Amino acid sequence: MRTINCIPAFNDNYIWLIVDDNKRCCVVDPGDAAPVIEFLEDHQLKLSQIWLTHHHADHTGGVSSLKGRYPDVDVYGPKSCRFEAIDHRLEKGDTVMFADHHYQILALPGHTLDHIAYYGEQSLFCGDVLFSAGCGRVFEGSYSQMFDSLNQIKALPANTNIYPTHEYTQANIDFALAADPTNLRLQHYQQKVLSLRSDNQPSLPTTLELELAINPFLRCECLDTEQWQTKQALREPLDVFAYLRDWKNDF
Ligand SMILES: [Zn+2]
Repeated sequence: MRTINCIPAFNDNYIWLIVDDNKRCCVVDPGDAAPVIEFLEDHQLKLSQIWLTHHHADHTGGVSSLKGRYPDVDVYGPKSCRFEAIDHRLEKGDTVMFADHHYQILALPGHTLDHIAYYGEQSLFCGDVLFSAGCGRVFEGSYSQMFDSLNQIKALPANTNIYPTHEYTQANIDFALAADPTNLRLQHYQQKVLSLRSDNQPSLPTTLELELAINPFLRCECLDTEQWQTKQALREPLDVFAYLRDWKNDF
């Protein structure tokens, strides 16, 4: 049996921690070591792997402290990552083993050029590519690269559980409702997330099935763009994506 735990960090980051039957664990994007160490000690866990999705400091900042404290830990990360403390550099098509399960590496550039995701056991650890009801900002890649990366996620089985690294869901839903105001499932989801957050519960993980129904960035071909009163012609789904991404940046 594998369990997946959520460790909050900073203001709105989540560090996901996968634990196997033997109390060995793998931590994804530990931007801060302190909450991870506290969790490991509280639950008497042994850290065996660190998985990094991209180079940003809020995803990598805890690695050297964790490596100092747990010298046997293996650090996995993107092949092209500028972060140096990576023992195993990964690219598209590679696999990582944890707790007798294989996880496949997807290359998902756009937010950063080095961005990868870990997919296996019906789970996707997608860093800052996809959030619930939103997606990452396009800092290093092109809109076309980011759109292709989101399409790779869309092609996974709908029952995939998705583990993004930020609690941005409420603000994303506010924007999603502006872009897709008649989406009933999105309206219901807003109520569910409001209730979870008022109990201080994470809104994540999410599922691909839900995101396909409510996330405007995954729905570029089916949104009613007429109602946006845009002066630009949005002929192709990529045009819709680029328009949405710019709109969200200023929202
Ligand atoms: Zn990032």
